[in-house]
Amino acid sequence: MVVIKFPLDKTRVPAECYLSSQPAALSDLQAWSLTSNGPEAISFVRSRADLPAPDLEIAFAPVVYDILTPPVDHGFSLGVVLLQPESSGTVSLRSADPFASPQINPRFLSREVDLEVLVHGVKLALDIAKAPALISFRGAELTSAGAGDIESFVPRCRGDDLPSSRTCRMGTDAMAVVDPVLRVHGLQGLRVVDASVMPRIVRAHTNAATIMIAEKAADLIKRGS
Ligand SMILES: Cc1cc2nc3c(=O)[nH]c(=O)nc-3n(C[C@H](O)[C@H](O)[C@H](O)COP(=O)(O)OP(=O)(O)OC[C@H]3O[C@@H](n4cnc5c(N)ncnc54)[C@H](O)[C@@H]3O)c2cc1C
Repeated sequence: MVVIKFPLDKTRVPAECYLSSQPAALSDLQAWSLTSNGPEAISFVRSRADLPAPDLEIAFAPVVYDILTPPVDHGFSLGVVLLQPESSGTVSLRSADPFASPQINPRFLSREVDLEVLVHGVKLALDIAKAPALISFRGAELTSAGAGDIESFVPRCRGDDLPSSRTCRMGTDAMAVVDPVLRVHGLQGLRVVDASVMPRIVRAHTNAATIMIAEKAADLIKRGS
């Protein structure tokens, strides 16, 4: 996800609409985390009109939000998510020690087309932030996405809040790990039931699809299939 952050313009927003200290901004984040569904508005959009379904998500949050750092001010954020990345990474063994952690190389944006689509999404988000309803009270952007070179800004954004999937993919070909009823190929009595079995990432957040996989697996196990 690429997050673009906008603080409130304190010269235009009445003081009672925000509290000025950094801890107060942090309490905004805590209150938002506990009382909100997450982003208050989400749009799913196509980067090209001829696409069969959306390939970008743009999410609006009423906090200056960044998954990795505490908020520094009151304001809002727009997050841009690539829904169907062409780039794929690898998970491999680091050593023969079964307790050693695996080697994970996500290879975010390793395909040029992903960068192009994400840059398109960031431009859309910046246009949204210029809408009269928002520009009347927002201050200058905190990130550097609008500062000119969006193409160089986007790859610098970390992607590790993105849901991962497909590492243990379902299928019947030689590279598939589980069969269509989630049994591990070549082993008896072992199923994999989580986001890793998705053959292709869904065009949405992955939690609901993972719960659906789990419900289906429970039915399969109860039926003895
Ligand atoms: C930062 C972040 C934000 C996200 N936001 C959203 C969102 O807003 N909406 C959405 O739909 N999805 C979101 N997702 C994705 C969602 O969380 C995942 O799709 C979902 O949790 C996948 O479920 P899972 O069962 O495959 O894996 P997990 O939920 O990761 O479950 C794996 C479980 O296995 C346990 N485990 C690991 N190793 C071992 C071990 N050796 N022994 C025993 N237990 C072990 C872990 O502790 C964990 O409980 C987000 C993901 C991240 C990382």
